[in-house]
Formats: sequence, C-alpha cells, structure tokens
Amino acid sequence: MQGLIMDRPLLISDLLRHADNVSGEREIVTRSVEGPIHRYTYRDAHRRSRQLARALQALDVKLGDRIATLAWNTYRHFEVYYAVSGIGAITHTLNPRLHPTQMAYIVNHAEDSYIFADVNLVPLIEAVTDDMPSIKGVVVMTDRANMPDTTIPNALCYEDLVGAQSDDFEWPEFDENTASSLCYTSGTTGNPKGALYSHRSTIIHAYASALPDVLHMGENEVILPVVPMFHVNAWGIPYGATMVGAKLVFPGPKLDGASIHKLLVDEGVTMTAGVPTIWHLLLNHWREAKTNVPSLKRVIIGGSACPESMVQAFQDEFGTDVRHAWGMTEMSPLGTVSLPKPSMDKPDEILRKQIKQGRPVFGVQMRIVDDDGNELPHDGESFGELHVRGPWITSGYFKMETSDVHGDDGWFATGDVSTLDADGYMEITDRAKDVIKSGGEWISSIELENAAMGHPDVAQAAVIGVPHPKWDERPLLIVVPAAGRTPSHEDLTVYLSDKVAKWWLPDDTILTDELPLGATGKVLKTELREKFGDHTLPDAG
Ligand code: AMP
Repeated sequence: MQGLIMDRPLLISDLLRHADNVSGEREIVTRSVEGPIHRYTYRDAHRRSRQLARALQALDVKLGDRIATLAWNTYRHFEVYYAVSGIGAITHTLNPRLHPTQMAYIVNHAEDSYIFADVNLVPLIEAVTDDMPSIKGVVVMTDRANMPDTTIPNALCYEDLVGAQSDDFEWPEFDENTASSLCYTSGTTGNPKGALYSHRSTIIHAYASALPDVLHMGENEVILPVVPMFHVNAWGIPYGATMVGAKLVFPGPKLDGASIHKLLVDEGVTMTAGVPTIWHLLLNHWREAKTNVPSLKRVIIGGSACPESMVQAFQDEFGTDVRHAWGMTEMSPLGTVSLPKPSMDKPDEILRKQIKQGRPVFGVQMRIVDDDGNELPHDGESFGELHVRGPWITSGYFKMETSDVHGDDGWFATGDVSTLDADGYMEITDRAKDVIKSGGEWISSIELENAAMGHPDVAQAAVIGVPHPKWDERPLLIVVPAAGRTPSHEDLTVYLSDKVAKWWLPDDTILTDELPLGATGKVLKTELREKFGDHTLPDAG
C-alpha cells in the first residue's frame, strides 16, 4: 500500500522562491571581482535570477543544455546557479586553476554551449577559444563599464543581458531527477570525470547539510563559504544557506588571510568553510596581526585532512570551534562530520575524535573492505578501502559507459583507505594510491604528515613512498619549515618517535620552500613523487 502524499518534485528554483517569500530581506554580500562590496537581498537575487532565466531562454538555452561558469564566489555566480538549473539546464562549474588546455578538454567533453566568466578570468578563455567548438558565446559577468577588450568573438555583457529582461517569469516544473549541475573531479590520474547531480539529490543534500550536527545552517547564521563555488558547488552551501535564509557572504577572488579576515569582521560572520591551506593563511594573519574574529563560532575544515595543530590553534588560541568534514565530488560532497558525542567529556578523547573525519551524515552508508572485497570490522584498527552509498552519491560518470569504481552491488569505491571505529567514526589513513607499502605492510602518509605538522619548526609536511631495495618502499618526509627555522632529520625523528610506530619513521627528510598544490588546494603527491621519487635514502645505497 502506498502512502497518501502529494508527489511534488524537489526543485532547486523552490529554494530561492522560498527564501524570497520568508527571508526576502536577508542579505547576500559580495566582495566583487571589480573591487567594491556589493550588497543585496534574497528578494533581489530571486528577481535577477528570473530576469537571467528569461535571458537564457532568449539565447535559446533549453532543458539539459550545459552552461559553464568560470567564476569566483559572487552574487552573480549565485544567480547563474539558480537561473540555469531553474530552467532545467545544467550549471557546469569550471575550475580557473586548471591549465586552459585541460579546461578546454572538460568544456568539449561536457559540450557546453555558453561560458559565464568573471572579468579577470577572460584571458583563460582567450587562450583556448578556437579549441572549444561547442561554445556559442561567452557571457562576461560584469557591467558595460567594466567590459574588457577581448579577442573572444561572441562576448556578451552579463548586466546587459539581465537588464534587458523583465522579471515576469514563472519557474518551470519538471521531474526532480532532472540533471541540475555538473562538476568534474580534479582527477590526479587520467582525464577528469564528470559528477552529474540532480535537483532531487541537491535538495536532499541541502536538507542534510543544514542539520545542527552537520553544518548547522539557520536563518540567524552568517555564512562565508571560502570553498569555491567551482569546487563541488562550494560544498552545497549556496543551496543549504538559501533553504534556511542565512545571510551569505561571498569573498570573490581575494582569499588571502587579511582579505578574508576583514570580511569576517565587517559582516559579523558566524560560520565559514574551506580547505586547510586557506586556514593556514588566516591563522598566520591572526597571529601576525594579534587578532581574531569574536563572532566566528565555527569553521568547517575539509577537502584534505585537518591537522591536530590546526584544531588546537582555532579552538584554544582563537576561540573558534572546528568541525572536520570529509566528502568527495562524487558525493555532492558531504560524507562525514566529526563532532564529539555528548557522552565524551575528556579533552584528549574529544580532540582525538575531531582529528578523525567523523561519523556519516544521515543518508550516507559506509563500509570498509580488503583487497578481496571482504568487509572489515569496525574496530578502529583494521583499514581497507572505504565504500559508500546514498541518495546524493553518483551512480556513474557523465558520458562514460562504464566505471570501475561504481560497483554492480550499488556501492561506490572512494579510493580512500580508512578505519571505522565502534563509535561510528571514520578515519582516513590514506588515498589508496598514496599509502606507503613497506615490507608488505601499509604506512599511512597522512598520519605521518599530521604528526610532523605538530612540530613547532614545521609549517607544512608531506610524506611520499620512495623505492627501497629491501622494503619495497620507505617514507620520505618533505617539510616546508616555519619561518626562519631549519629542523633536522634527527630532530624530527626524535619528535615523531613517540607518535608513530618505529618502523613508520621516515628514512629521510627534505626541506623545501613550498609544496605543489593542485587546482583544489590539495598537495599534489604526484608532483612530489616526480620530483623526489628517486631520492636516495641513506641506507638504501
Ligand atoms: P574532491 O573530490 O576533489 O573533493 O576530493 C575528494 C578527496 O579528498 C577524498 O576522496 C579524500 O581523499 C580527500 N578528502 C576530502 N576531505 C578530507 C578530509 N577531511 N580528510 C582527508 N582527506 C579528505
């Protein structure tokens, strides 16, 4: 017997319509690409998104068409999210940190018909205009006064397009399983692959992300997503924040410590989210300027492992709570969030759990398996590949017939190696391809990195496996020293020796000026392996 419930579709346009109705006066603030602070409300955003929706239809954009964006976190990018998905087309976010030829590959694969680009990113498109035959035009996201001189043949002005339309527009209704947005994985190996989200998956993910024990979004929060809107839709914040009518603060292109700090203070931000690299910059700024942000209750840290020293710095030095979260492009991205349980009251135990990636958000199911696919126990010790399934997790890749990570049994193989403990907490011990295989056993590069980063002379650390004649691979520690410091291999070995097993201790240490970062701010292990992979270890001749 079926329930007697209306079958109303879950559609992204309803988020903005609802915000207009019930929180219409709540603000959306942007440090614009052109420079000045721009301020308006959800009501204004809804009106302009309807105007833009009409403009898209005038450009003959139809259900299922892919519309790319090459843009920072701004109110205009927010409008494009809603207008494009709202008419049943697909918002395809491009990462400006990719090499233009890689961007062109992605545009061609997606067969995008238009690109909406920020004014300072137009040169990236100019470099490859002739290589993107599906592109009918490029909409520069600025006003007439700021339009650049460009070699792009069909460059349109965003404000002209919007300004030419009335807001007399009703959002169309269609099946909630219609595709809404497309995001390519950063793909450290092989070509990037497209994760294609639906209206339904986006709305369910938004409900989940707003929960108090997840991102804790509500109308009286002021939320600044530093995580880019081109990186898994800024972790879904533009949808979740709109669902609850939170004040939104968009940082535009300036992500340095001082610029972020100023926005946090000026706008009374209560919650922010981003990758550890960004928080290093902010913490350094706070220390140098001897300041902090009293309104800032919570920082969400994810995208790569949050070091213990970072949790302590935020919480103990500066009074801001840390929520460590884990997810993936293929997971929309939310998977787990690490909060202590009410029964936990010992500071050590709480910190230990915060370093873990956390417990699954309702909707996400997890298991760990060994190389033969056998399920491993949830004892916090056994580690194996993490599999997930749930209503916002991809079932395949865009325009790919087969995928060896989407199993026939309905589980997605994440490529992360992790433990699960009896309290339900997941801890990543490595990426399957980064784990160091020494003498038939596995060494977690992440655990070594986190331990090394606790040393006061270490600003950043990365560990890779280098070939060893006897042990197959041994760990090599690569360190960016703290300003003015030169930690020796011996110092670091002594420091690490009570933190990891003896056979895990790195065989050598290299000091370097900086670590190579990929397009989403993660350390590029592939590049480190290319650069240091043939380093001769002291006892390996
Ligand atoms: P992406 O799809 O670019 O967001 O990358 C997803 C991958 O980033 C995951 O599979 C993890 O390897 C890594 N990752 C994300 N969050 C965390 C975290 N909190 N700790 C460790 N690794 C993380």
